[in-house]
Amino acid sequence: MNNNTQTNETKHTDPVCGMEVTESGAAAKYEYNGKMYYFCAPGCMNSFKKEPDKYLDPNYKPSM
Ligand SMILES: [Zn+2]
Repeated sequence: MNNNTQTNETKHTDPVCGMEVTESGAAAKYEYNGKMYYFCAPGCMNSFKKEPDKYLDPNYKPSM
């Protein structure tokens, strides 16, 4: 038997807090500018919805 505990799911980085989330493990997702973003919690998604450009800024440093 191949007892594979690792999943090969694509990982996404929560742009708000920097956590890695999988598509099935994400608590929330939101499409912006034709790209889907995944979040560890609905609160992160709400923050992103309010100011997406702030979190997509390359100078933004994710923090918990
Ligand atoms: Zn998060």
